[in-house]
Amino acid sequence: MPDAYAVLDDRFAALVATPVAPERLHTGSLWAEGPAWFPAHRSLVWSDIPGDRMLRWDETTGAVGTFRQPAGHPNGNTMDREGRLVTCEHGGRRVTRTEACGSITVLADRFAGRRLNSPNDVVVRSDGSVWFTDPAYGIDDDYEGHRAEPEQDGCHVYRIDPSGAVTRVADDFARPNGLAFSPDESLLYVSDTGRTHDPAGPAHIRRLRVDGDRLTGGEVLADCTAGLFDGFRLDRDGRLWAGAGDGVHCLHPDGTLLGKVLLPEPVANVEWGGAGRDRLFICATTSLYAVRVRTRGASR
Ligand code: MG
Repeated sequence: MPDAYAVLDDRFAALVATPVAPERLHTGSLWAEGPAWFPAHRSLVWSDIPGDRMLRWDETTGAVGTFRQPAGHPNGNTMDREGRLVTCEHGGRRVTRTEACGSITVLADRFAGRRLNSPNDVVVRSDGSVWFTDPAYGIDDDYEGHRAEPEQDGCHVYRIDPSGAVTRVADDFARPNGLAFSPDESLLYVSDTGRTHDPAGPAHIRRLRVDGDRLTGGEVLADCTAGLFDGFRLDRDGRLWAGAGDGVHCLHPDGTLLGKVLLPEPVANVEWGGAGRDRLFICATTSLYAVRVRTRGASR
């Protein structure tokens, strides 16, 4: 096993039993984020937030091209149930959907009549609802968006109903960031990166119970032991694969840190892809990496 893997629990060894280390597929981003896999196109789309662009990696050729530029300082991306791209944009302070014809539909840019801060990450539930986090990183300065005064009273988590109505589903986070559902969608995990603005602030992932269109509970699942947890995805057995300061941390559903995929750059987000959904794509600051592991992404 290459030394790119740190096995902290025997249960992790079987997941990374491979002679192959992660490979770097592309470099040259300022800050890679928001990987989203499109099986129909065998391609991965991701964001370069300060670069104000989205890139696309083609599995069939390995080529990388510009997907969209300017792109509204994009951050998190995902694919909805109809195969469409859903994007968080810092610049426009909105969540958008790219239609099959290429036009862009705004799903949310306000709550209670006031502009959102800067949507960061997004996930779509099987009922068609869209859930996203809204920290203020994209309005803090002009590097990853446009500096502005917040109009909301804090950094919250929101849900967009299939009807289009936007509701606030959690208001007790400092800086909610990455989010993902458990495989059966009974749980929503949300990371909080409040430590970026407060040395005593949170650097953890919380677990909330999904009750229809509401969230309850919200206990801390795990504190990050290296930097901050940013974006993450779950595998089919409910383990979390989370971006952190030294690579990707694999967490058991009970919060135990099982092991790490070590990388030379801090990781912002990950995504499952490939025909078997067993290839983990990793956005790590300047670069896109991929690694094959012995599990699969939770089904959509
Ligand atoms: Mg994020």
